[in-house]
Amino acid sequence: GTLPPAATCTDLVADAYAHALRHREGSVADYIPALASADPDAFGLSVIEVDGGVHERGDTRQRFSIQSISKAFVYALLCEAVGHEQALAVVGVNNSGLAFNSVVAIELNDGHPMNPMVNAGALATTALVPAADAAERWSIIHDGLSRFAGRELSVDEAVYRSETQTNHRNAAIAQLLTSYGRIREDPAEVVDVYTRQCSLLVDAHDLAVMAATLADGGVNPVTGARVVTADVARDTLAVMAASGLYENSGEWLFEVGLPGKSGVAGGLVSVAPGKAGIAAYAPPLDAAGNSVRGQIATAYLSRALGLNIFASA
Ligand code: GLU
Repeated sequence: GTLPPAATCTDLVADAYAHALRHREGSVADYIPALASADPDAFGLSVIEVDGGVHERGDTRQRFSIQSISKAFVYALLCEAVGHEQALAVVGVNNSGLAFNSVVAIELNDGHPMNPMVNAGALATTALVPAADAAERWSIIHDGLSRFAGRELSVDEAVYRSETQTNHRNAAIAQLLTSYGRIREDPAEVVDVYTRQCSLLVDAHDLAVMAATLADGGVNPVTGARVVTADVARDTLAVMAASGLYENSGEWLFEVGLPGKSGVAGGLVSVAPGKAGIAAYAPPLDAAGNSVRGQIATAYLSRALGLNIFASA
């Protein structure tokens, strides 16, 4: 990789961790009942270089549901399956400026989902992954995300059940997309596959491997397997940069300068293209739904390691 020497990286990860550890703001998500029991003190930070170097601190093996971070990787699978033009035509790539589960955003855009990082676009993305039926679509998504992580991921059944019993809003979004002809599959089945993908269990180490795979042009630096093409990895990073941190995506890009994606369980991945994947796990979230410690630790690392993609030196 093009990061500083390994010992320096390890020290800087420890510094970033200690710096973020002092922050106790934010609150754990509870709109999905099963998420409310997360340990607010859990904190893990992992950096994995494209050459396979690993620098970690804290609870990097504690598992949690991937939630919205799955959106970025399922989008990559869709792009791989249908190509750049088709993905652009069916899902869109502009920031909505509205909440991740906004219904208004769909209405304002003539039924066209704004981008794959909000629920409307993510549901459409899941629906559009080519497959014979919902079972095959789930198997393609499960297998694809597992290849990004380099191990077979499994579903947190409690989180899956909990969200299934409470996700009336996602059901409504899928119905609305169906009314606009944006989803041709059964909307209930689409919501079910989406809820399963969100319930996949990962830890910060897994997420850093997944992010490093995007950093490495689609090749998993741990397994050596190509998961998606370099063009797909590039397109996915563009979408993450524009919309990966909910309504705070612009501020994130301004402060950190890296494509990222957060999830409500407290995960946050960031990608330094050609260099490394960064992942944090810390459940307390800010008002937009982004991990407080995750953002602080990643911002620290972006500055200390010189990762901002807009910097000329
Ligand atoms: N499964 C969650 C939902 O659709 C994911 C939300 C998120 O992480 O932003 O509400």
